[in-house]
Amino acid sequence: MTLHVEHKEEITEKEIETFYNVCKSSINTEVASYLEACVRCGLCAEACLFYMGENISGRIDPTLTPAYKADLLRDIYKENYTLWGRIKKTLGLGVKIEPEDLKEQVRLAFYTCTMCDRCTKVCPMGIDTPRLVSIVRSALTSAGLVPEDLAEATNTAVEKGSPLGVDVPTFLSRIDFISDEWEVEIPVDQKADYLYIPSSIELMKYPSSVASTAKVLNHLGVSWTLSTKAHEATNFGLFTQSKEVTRELLRRILEGAKELGIKTIIAPECGHAYQSMRFVAPNVFPREWDFEVLNVVEFLYRMLEEGKLKLSKKVIDQITLHDSCQIGRRGGVLKEPREVLKLIAEEFKDSVEFPEKNICCGGGGGVVVEHEADYHRQKAFLAKAELFDKVGVKNVACYCANCMLALDRSSRELNRDYRFLSLVDLVAEAIEEEGE
Ligand code: SF4
Ligand code: SF4
Repeated sequence: MTLHVEHKEEITEKEIETFYNVCKSSINTEVASYLEACVRCGLCAEACLFYMGENISGRIDPTLTPAYKADLLRDIYKENYTLWGRIKKTLGLGVKIEPEDLKEQVRLAFYTCTMCDRCTKVCPMGIDTPRLVSIVRSALTSAGLVPEDLAEATNTAVEKGSPLGVDVPTFLSRIDFISDEWEVEIPVDQKADYLYIPSSIELMKYPSSVASTAKVLNHLGVSWTLSTKAHEATNFGLFTQSKEVTRELLRRILEGAKELGIKTIIAPECGHAYQSMRFVAPNVFPREWDFEVLNVVEFLYRMLEEGKLKLSKKVIDQITLHDSCQIGRRGGVLKEPREVLKLIAEEFKDSVEFPEKNICCGGGGGVVVEHEADYHRQKAFLAKAELFDKVGVKNVACYCANCMLALDRSSRELNRDYRFLSLVDLVAEAIEEEGE
């Protein structure tokens, strides 16, 4: 078992062999049915934000089609599991992989796919492309071909406890700072019902959302705490598709939560953190993972429904919403942020007719930390910006700090003037207004 992921510059026969073997051994009946079912209709192309972004710029790039991202995996499948593929191999006409092909796989699987799942929703055959891309990522990771920035962040998370290097002393001093600056009490390592786990993106870049969550929890009077053992919500094991890293980072949360007698974990404004704790953890620890997991927006909505939270003040005039793919489309939390925004904004203008078809921020799946992916992230943002412009609203509420970071960055790089706002910040403001 290794908890270290590698970024190798040189690709030799050994890396190619590892890549091939991991792809081959990952093909089960589910994966085979996806690989067989593609009818090359091309419908998924128009659903992928990377393809759409290029299109908006007047360029058609067929390599950004979701179906194409699984093509090498499909070739490996055919070579091993179809009669014609096996005959071709016997005749010396089998799959030939060159180092350049693996570099292209890195671009396709790591830089131009955020695992947003939008393409799955339009595919008439129900093909789960992110599942196929995750196999390609896992094979590249096994071969030591993780993009440099992503490898560094993942290894830092394992070694220091957070991808941004937030170790326990840094975590505690940051919490002290937030507590002083926003004048809010923040309990740490207390026995409690609720464990709130922030992400280090919030701690370091958007600390107000940590303060806001604390204010709301205090306002509600629930028994809650932070944990030094479980102080980081993100899980870069999902981005690198390293089972070992995923398990190790979840194990820390499991132990921290158990120690404090936690019943419910409140996942922060972070999409993949929600995915990992809500959906992955119960499969990794089927017996021990005995917690309810709620995203902070789900929690707020539950409190509203139970009448424990009242929001009647408007804190912003016009606003639209960016959905986190992992909390919204994949997690099903789509109604909740909309209902909250309707209460606290003078006018909520939805940019999408069908919320599950909202467009990704362009930085999910680890893309935002990869500098080599900047070009693609910016192009993808054009597809997103079209939605904001369609409703003519500059204020955009977000419920994922990673989305906010990606959107903020792309917007500034492309000289746009949208304002991205944390949803929990707006709620905390509405509560303060109530109390005035
Ligand atoms: S999961 Fe999202 S980013 Fe990846 S291929 Fe599908 S639509 Fe594109
Ligand atoms: S929409 Fe589905 S069937 Fe059509 S090309 Fe894409 S993956 Fe293949």
